[in-house]
Amino acid sequence: MSDTYQRTLPILTDDNRHFWQGGKDGHLLLLRCQDCLHWVHVPQPRCTNCLSEALKPEPVSGKAEVETFTINVKAWGKGMKVPYTIAVVALPEQPGLRVTTNIVDVDPEKVYIGMPVEVQFEQDDDVWLPMFAPVAG
Ligand SMILES: [Zn+2]
Repeated sequence: MSDTYQRTLPILTDDNRHFWQGGKDGHLLLLRCQDCLHWVHVPQPRCTNCLSEALKPEPVSGKAEVETFTINVKAWGKGMKVPYTIAVVALPEQPGLRVTTNIVDVDPEKVYIGMPVEVQFEQDDDVWLPMFAPVAG
């Protein structure tokens, strides 16, 4: 039996593949309406602003700010490293545009609301998980 924790990976579909595999090329890709330019996340078939179906993945800057977070201290599986930070980060591209993620490369006790962070990717099998780390400096 392995001591390495195996996380449950997302199931890739035609609607979410861009999000989970954009990191392969170093991009955080979110759906954007080609009619009204509204960003749409989590992936869905229609624009949440104008109901257009003309949604296409486009890269965002990868910058964000911690909007809220919690620290998980429970090892839910064998080999899971704790504690770690689960967060909702707000993207500057549009008010209300948020991604649920982990904050990495920082002691969970040092994470705070409003902390500037940027995306980095952790590859696991055929997905590139978007994680966020504090902006250097
Ligand atoms: Zn739209």
